[in-house]
This record gives sequence, C-alpha cells and structure tokens, in this order.
Amino acid sequence: MTSANRTGAAADLAMVSDLTSPCHVCGIACSGTVLIWLLRAGVRRAIRVDRPALEELFAALWRGEPRSDAMPALMRDYFEGTGWFGAEAPPDGTPITYEAVAALLALADGAALDEHARGVCAALRGLAADADATAAPLFIYYD
Ligand SMILES: [Zn+2]
Repeated sequence: MTSANRTGAAADLAMVSDLTSPCHVCGIACSGTVLIWLLRAGVRRAIRVDRPALEELFAALWRGEPRSDAMPALMRDYFEGTGWFGAEAPPDGTPITYEAVAALLALADGAALDEHARGVCAALRGLAADADATAAPLFIYYD
C-alpha cells in the first residue's frame, strides 16, 4: 500500500455508486463486495456491489449453458474462480477492458431484471462509457 507505482488500491477512492445492501442478519455486506473502477488523475472512480447481488444479476443475464465459452469473460471468471475472481488476482485490482464490460451489458437487453439489477447495469454502463470516452483504464477487485 505504500508504493506510488501501484495503480489501484493505493489511489484515492471516489465512490460513484455504492450499490451494496446490508445483510439482514449482521447489518453489513458480510458476503463480500466487488469494486469496479476507472483510474483517472490518481483517483479511483468506483462502483461497489455486494457479491450476492452480482450473482443474482449474472443469473438473470445468462440463459446459456453454465460453462459455455460464449459466457462473457467477467461472468465466467466469477463462476469458475479464475481471472479477476481467482486466488491469484492482484490485490490492487485486475485490469479489465471496456469491451469486457460491454459484452456483459449486451445481455441486459431483453433480460428480466429487477430494479436493483437494472441499477447495477446502469452504473456499470455509466462507468464503462466514462472510461471509454476518457481512455481511463478499468479495474475490478473483490473482497
Ligand atoms: Zn451477515
């Protein structure tokens, strides 16, 4: 956390949209959260979702075979515990592409999403569009 060269966790955090919901039992997002951000001028502009909500969103978006190669990479990594969701994921965030987010969001067209899922998609869409428009790198991290 002390190196200025680290691009993710060491940068200032500006929460654009916190979409986590507290657990009904303990009052915090105890199942873990996922942070997605773009890095611009040393500031992480981030959205945060709790894992159960992200999993529900993925389930609502994906109607294909569970382990299909056609599944968007961001989603497949989550279900298979690889890439950004793997044990080896960098502690300062895994770089992701605008296209990877777009591939995920493309599934939202015509999907039956509840209000919270639509909110997550809208936040992701806004973040990816901002990143694309300003050539800012995108990262994802889970805890
Ligand atoms: Zn809890």
